[in-house]
Amino acid sequence: PDYEHIFYVTTKLKDRLVPLAPEEAKAFSDLSATQVRNPDGLERLADGKIILNGRALLGSDVSIRRGHLRLPDGGVYQLVPGESQRFKAYRVQHNQARGPYKGGIRYHREVSLDLFKALAAEMTWKTAISEVPFGGGKGGIQIDPRQYGREELENITLRFMYKLKGLIGPNIDIPAPDVGTNGDIMALMYRQYSDGERERHNMRGIVTGKDVRIGGSEGRVKATGQGVVYCIEDFYADRGETVKGKTFTMQGFGNVGSHAAAILSSMGARLLAVNDADGSIYNGDGIDVNALMAYVSDPKNLKRSVAGFPGAQRIEKKDLWEVQADILIPAALGGEITGDVAEKLKVKLIAEGANGPTTPEADRVLQKRGIDLIPDIIANAGGVTVSYYEWIQNKRMERWSEAEVDQRLEKAMKRNYRIIRDISRNQPRKTEMHDSRHYAIGKTVDPRCAAMILALKRIEAHYLLEGFSQ
Ligand code: GLU
Repeated sequence: PDYEHIFYVTTKLKDRLVPLAPEEAKAFSDLSATQVRNPDGLERLADGKIILNGRALLGSDVSIRRGHLRLPDGGVYQLVPGESQRFKAYRVQHNQARGPYKGGIRYHREVSLDLFKALAAEMTWKTAISEVPFGGGKGGIQIDPRQYGREELENITLRFMYKLKGLIGPNIDIPAPDVGTNGDIMALMYRQYSDGERERHNMRGIVTGKDVRIGGSEGRVKATGQGVVYCIEDFYADRGETVKGKTFTMQGFGNVGSHAAAILSSMGARLLAVNDADGSIYNGDGIDVNALMAYVSDPKNLKRSVAGFPGAQRIEKKDLWEVQADILIPAALGGEITGDVAEKLKVKLIAEGANGPTTPEADRVLQKRGIDLIPDIIANAGGVTVSYYEWIQNKRMERWSEAEVDQRLEKAMKRNYRIIRDISRNQPRKTEMHDSRHYAIGKTVDPRCAAMILALKRIEAHYLLEGFSQ
């Protein structure tokens, strides 16, 4: 990569109520229960007072002794004053031959410099393939966002951007959402970046993936899932078939997976099985994707998991891989389809919604078994493509309709996917905007290799024709 930045983000966490084990709680058995209802609503400790749900508690509300309190649920909790915590943060800027660095911000417990280097490189290939005028970057924080409250995540994000500010810019490096982040986080990043600047309104393009009400693009939230579907549609169109009546399974039901599943099922395909970190579910007649989306986003579903969905039966994670279907869409983290998994799969096509879901060993197994593949750097490029549309709209102070965004995305995805297929089949041809003869290498190659050839040739052109060495 061009640059690797590692830094720390420190923030003060909120006061917490930590439940005591029953053994320890015995010592406080004389504390009387009170009218306090929601221990999660604890806000802060001020002047020795407890603020719950924005209301200072009176002595009659709650019993406190030696920093412990007893709540009506019978549990005894210890009040732990918020302490400062330090998080490791990263931004890798991989390559800018084709334009400003571009790529998501990941909040996840298992991240590392090596992971961000790999993901930033993937962005460089992906932006080249999707023909958006960007290079590649990636970054994030080593944190499990589910362990922290809204206000804490806000503070952490603001501190993160405070440190990032000198390294990025709307024409230098443009972050976007990735695993564990969303439009709310992007809004905070924009605010922190532009706060106090006289030309704030000219800085909206500092991040993409914003809410449409504050300069985001229509169609951006679903864009990655939508792009996966355009590729699948084109894969079948090439064979004179459609997705109607096809069956699919899916690993991960986050932003990418849920939208891909909803769009595919609206086109008449059936979702048979899906999983996430907390469970796996199956329904041979097809899972009702809209009902599943509602179930996952219900505030009562604290883990936001597909587990326990009433419209399907529970299965083991390993069983998901053995469900017979036309298509598998991995849409979670990297490295999930290992050689062993690839041996078991009973699908005909894999469309990679996730970044790097298939290991090199699995790639060899899939090829040997004749399972078709749409590689990640084209399959999931819809997100960054619509990020580009958002960035143009911000620059031009425009707003495009969802129909316009979808139309452009469809054209771009299918055009580039067809060029990859042409390279793969060693069939160079002149298309509307391209001369594939620049890309073909004189022999047939697998689709992942073809995608890499397209990416590298497009980047190489900048080095060769601009004559610069970086
Ligand atoms: N995080 C997404 C990806 O991996 C989107 C990146 C972007 O829009 O910049 O492609």
